[in-house]
Amino acid sequence: QIKNKMSSTKQIMLALLFGLIIGLLLHYILGEGWLRDTVLVDGLFYFIGQGFVRLLQMLVVPLVFFSISSGAMAMGDTGKFGRVAIRTIVLYMLTTAIAIVIALVLSNVIQPGIGMDLAATEDVAAQTEVQAEAPSLIDTLLNIIPANPFNALSTGNMLQVIFWAFVVGIICSKFPKEMKLLENIVQVGNDFMMKVTAMVMKLAPIGVFGLIARTFTEVGLGIVGPLLKLLIDVVGSMVIMVLVVYLILILFVARVRPSRFFKKVLPVYTFAFSSASSSATIPLTLKSCDTLGVPREISSFTIPLGATINMNGTAIFQGCAVVFIAGAYGVNLTIIDLVTVVLTAILSSIGTAGVPGSGMIMLSMVLQSAGLPIEGIGLIMSIERIIDMFRTALNVTGDVVSTFISAAKEKMIDYDCYYSDKIVSMDE
Ligand code: ASP
Repeated sequence: QIKNKMSSTKQIMLALLFGLIIGLLLHYILGEGWLRDTVLVDGLFYFIGQGFVRLLQMLVVPLVFFSISSGAMAMGDTGKFGRVAIRTIVLYMLTTAIAIVIALVLSNVIQPGIGMDLAATEDVAAQTEVQAEAPSLIDTLLNIIPANPFNALSTGNMLQVIFWAFVVGIICSKFPKEMKLLENIVQVGNDFMMKVTAMVMKLAPIGVFGLIARTFTEVGLGIVGPLLKLLIDVVGSMVIMVLVVYLILILFVARVRPSRFFKKVLPVYTFAFSSASSSATIPLTLKSCDTLGVPREISSFTIPLGATINMNGTAIFQGCAVVFIAGAYGVNLTIIDLVTVVLTAILSSIGTAGVPGSGMIMLSMVLQSAGLPIEGIGLIMSIERIIDMFRTALNVTGDVVSTFISAAKEKMIDYDCYYSDKIVSMDE
């Protein structure tokens, strides 16, 4: 059986590789034209990839709702829960801040924007109309309370769904007799969603193939060109984040062998990379937390929360993009500018939704805070999707790391499960 599970992860990895190779071949062999652009990119591959993403999105709201409410019912010890919640949120903020600082430091060494040809990208810049406003703190907090819980569920407003799921779970646990029926519904709903998730997961390799094949058939590799330095800067900062920050946390705070951790997170990383959506990845992220020995009581709350507010990868991207755009426009950033960037990037990554491209929209807010031209975004547009794939993968990994640390601190990790060969599988 273990062999079978291993092969599931391999299937996802192979699908990614296949999609990449086939996409690149098709991009260059077919060239621009009806067959490549209409039949494949906007036709077949779009259907396969988007079909899978939509199937996952279909799971997210009911999965999060039922698993949080049943987790809250089972939690009993609310003091413990409060500690987990506070610790996780602090970790989310702290890792995001560290991510931006790493990005700013490495970008100042690499200087990715120096020598960019602004004229060549004027057209793109002129088309850029993305702009985001910084939400006020009070409004952000108020917005967690759903004025209409049914509306929150139907629009998939994640923080509001989390809030309402807690209300349901806590009321059920406080009044077990009166709420017996509701409790049963929640339990059955939870089991039902686990089964639907398992069914959808079986399609993961096909979905990953469709997503990756589409991206590379459409863009090939050529677009990277002058932006290669920026890509190296972003990916380099991410590597530092994983190999230094996450590794230290796993080794010295959670005190476990890290190789297991990364092996078990790999399928999630791959899927987040392909879909560029941390929100659509939630079902898979929860499953990977199961294999790490994190109980659902914790992960069912921290993972959807992380997919909504914790964006380590997006923060890195924003730090790099700020230095890149400043370099391209010849603007010198003062220390005050940099501190402002750190603070706004934390806020903006909280505000970034876990869907493709939202980090780019929030970037305008960060640029504004540093007094940089918003049109600068136009310079990066051509590699946005590729960078989005990397940042989403890191966003999701960051959620799993912080969740794992919180669970470890609460002594709630099942170490037998952690050290077992169990990895995310499409067979259960
Ligand atoms: N696509 C990212 C995510 O879903 C957000 C972003 O655009 O930075 O996590």
